[in-house]
Amino acid sequence: MKAIRRFSVRPVLPEPLRPLGDLAHNLRWSWHSETRELFRAVDPDGPRVSDGDPMRVLGTVSARRLEELAEDGDFLRRLADVADDLHAHLTEPRWYQRIEGEPPAAVAYFSPEFGITAALPQYSGGLGVLAGDHLKAAADLGVPLIGVGLLYRHGYFRQSLSRDGWQLEHYPVLDPNEMPLELLREDGGAPVRVELRLPGGRLLRAHVWQARVGRVPLLLLDSHVEENAPRERDVTDRLYGGGSEHRLLQEMLLGIGGVRALRAYCRVTGHPEPEVFHTNEGHAGFLGLERVRELGERGVSFDTAVETVRAGTVFTTHTPVPAGIDRFDRALVARHFDEDGELPGVDVDRVLELGAETYPGGDDGVFNMAVMGLRLAQRANGVSTLHGSVSREMFAGLWPGFDVAEVPITSITNGVHAPTWTADEVREMRPDAGDAELWELRRTLRERLVREVRRRLYDSWRQRGASSAELGWIDGVLDPDVLTIGFARRVPSYKRLTLMLRDRERLTELLLHPTRPVQLVVAGKAHPADDGGKRLIQELVRFADDPRVRHRIVFLPDYGMAMARTLYSGCDVWLNNPLRPLEACGTSGMKAALNGCLNLSVPDGWWDEWYEPDFGWAIPTADGGGPAAEESPEDRERRDDMEAAALYELLHEHVAPCFYDRGVGSPTPEAGVGFPMPEAGVGFPMPEARGGSGLPERWIEMVRQTLGRLGPKVPADRMVREYVERLYIPAAHAHRAMDVRTAERLAGWKARVRAAWPGVAIGHVESVCESVRLGGSLSLRVRVTLGDLEPRDVEVQVVAGRVDASDSITGEDALRVPLKPSDGPEEDGSWLYEGPLALDRTGPFGYTVRVLPSHPLLAGPAEMGLVAVPSDDLAAREAAGVLMR
Ligand SMILES: *Cc1c(COP(=O)(O)O)cnc(C)c1O
Repeated sequence: MKAIRRFSVRPVLPEPLRPLGDLAHNLRWSWHSETRELFRAVDPDGPRVSDGDPMRVLGTVSARRLEELAEDGDFLRRLADVADDLHAHLTEPRWYQRIEGEPPAAVAYFSPEFGITAALPQYSGGLGVLAGDHLKAAADLGVPLIGVGLLYRHGYFRQSLSRDGWQLEHYPVLDPNEMPLELLREDGGAPVRVELRLPGGRLLRAHVWQARVGRVPLLLLDSHVEENAPRERDVTDRLYGGGSEHRLLQEMLLGIGGVRALRAYCRVTGHPEPEVFHTNEGHAGFLGLERVRELGERGVSFDTAVETVRAGTVFTTHTPVPAGIDRFDRALVARHFDEDGELPGVDVDRVLELGAETYPGGDDGVFNMAVMGLRLAQRANGVSTLHGSVSREMFAGLWPGFDVAEVPITSITNGVHAPTWTADEVREMRPDAGDAELWELRRTLRERLVREVRRRLYDSWRQRGASSAELGWIDGVLDPDVLTIGFARRVPSYKRLTLMLRDRERLTELLLHPTRPVQLVVAGKAHPADDGGKRLIQELVRFADDPRVRHRIVFLPDYGMAMARTLYSGCDVWLNNPLRPLEACGTSGMKAALNGCLNLSVPDGWWDEWYEPDFGWAIPTADGGGPAAEESPEDRERRDDMEAAALYELLHEHVAPCFYDRGVGSPTPEAGVGFPMPEAGVGFPMPEARGGSGLPERWIEMVRQTLGRLGPKVPADRMVREYVERLYIPAAHAHRAMDVRTAERLAGWKARVRAAWPGVAIGHVESVCESVRLGGSLSLRVRVTLGDLEPRDVEVQVVAGRVDASDSITGEDALRVPLKPSDGPEEDGSWLYEGPLALDRTGPFGYTVRVLPSHPLLAGPAEMGLVAVPSDDLAAREAAGVLMR
């Protein structure tokens, strides 16, 4: 019978066990294995719960067992230790408390999804897991972050398969009362309520749930409240569901409602107000508008407010894939922000300007959230070195006249939270462990994965309608001694789930190789609206269903954080074959590396930056360098063929031989012992040569290099430290310098400079050169008209460096030297600028001159997107002059 209503009965813990309640309510257990072990001991015979979720353990354990534990001295001592450890985490000074440079009192971190644990399923993939890792690392480092997001009542979907391999989606009902969440309440006890005005006099109300991620609070807005009309109640129904109006409402609630929730949180808890706002991707970009509105209430004009807001805002862009960027119909946005909608008092035309695609190829019917993100943040970054440069190129149209290298988007390479993603056994391994020990550890992890795969595959086949009698073969799926390759991620087309199927015969040969077989574990969810992605999954599932290969390749449904942990640690090789350069960073390979799993990947994102042959393989890519999205279908096919062929070749010629090379002369441990082989006629993997230690020495060395050299680069604390030092602290300083009076002056100055800019021009350039030799110098005189501006409003620069065949100054190391103005204007009102240019490099060399706005409160020369360069005429005359000299 179906219940008409569900609720959860909270256990009453006996007094001595009270601390268990606090431990269950703080998500630190998700990265603290002692706490997880403690909860395992609470109910060792209880039901398996996702990720060891303590809330579930407490929800299912019997009262008798609790009474027993309340008298168990050993248990109580362990409980006290773990509780003390949490207390220390929450209160002790950490790295952040010791740094200099007056860091921000608090930083708000907005994200549409947070992946902290499978027990709080509020993520769809990498973006969310990264946000979760960011909070955890911030907690470890003592960074005073406050996370802000939405609570989706159905989270993201759970995936299963139909009999013929088609993705099916289920939306579980999540009850916040059963999750480690608490309602944020006013002092009087009433729930904090956030309200947004919608067109037509509708109101969107939300409650705020608080999760504790160690010492970092996470606020999640929830529109599922009684007072809302059904339509509004459903705003936070699911992650990335619904049409574009639904998405817009979610993003308004996240950005605008999120700031209001944050203000309420600081008011009721006394937490310091954030000085810096960080938006993880453009989805939360409306947070800037809400802060503009707040300032407007205090009488601050729109332009002044934008200056104030920008100073303290950091924007991180996460994808070069157009589909990953939110673009709304301009009219839809206009409807929600006009007088009848939210943010009354903020001019809707000014709002629309912020999201306008004012660059060649832009669409004037569109409101672009990433573009607004960049306009409302003085500091912006991509998530790997390569992605930084791809993003500068992608958004260069917003800074016309500047070289791509000068587009003010920097990069901070993502990281992953090591305590979350490192298997306990790897963490506990002695640094001086010998080869045999290390190899044994790898086998233990692989064997655990094999068991997990069989269990999941069995469940999946039962789900697909098979009876258990038909499923005996699953006991022979995968072999704990066979080279195991993992591939798991979301299924957008650029990640190329089915590249491995390009030549099925070739793949089959690799899987069934008599002495050096490989086995593959594949997983991933397609977006519910992406039938193309679902077709790829079906193709893969149908291939893996074939009795000829089904013991060597499996597709596991419902990829998520719980599965990911066993997968990353249990595989020998982590495969990634995106279409370069569309993988902004990629993080699963980093998590694999933390566990000694070697990476085999297209050099994209993080792997482009850190790949070395000592600890992995790079799949040669046919990337032409440009945005891959513009490739013709034929080019794309050819590229897939080439890259797939390279992948097979690497596996066959390098990866498998390295894994199965067990030295010369001595017998190898027999493969497959204790694991019945599925089909007759398929041989055990036998080493080609026998001898030595019986261990794959080169492989083990690569594992060591992965753990020892790559491992230290990938952790999220490195990433969070970089955010603090390179973005949060400068943003906090900019924010402090930007009081309303200063912002007003800056806004006024910008308006004046913008208006006067058409009057700025370079009139004449003269150079006197003593000798064109290394160590010599050039003396320059430039005549500049400034119109209504003064020399203190601008900088006149000479830009010099190596030139390529088309006379472009290339290289990031170009010199930029300011020239000095003469004491007063010439008779015609123009100014003379002078200065030397040192010739400090050999070879083809060139220079040019330009004028830029200059103000101490600008974060960089390109900030305003204004620049004056020599006219074409002048440049041509100069070029001729150089030839004559
Ligand atoms: C790390 C992670 C991802 C992201 O993996 P990519 O390699 O960046 O695609 C996705 N899903 C889960 C569950 C993860 O843990």
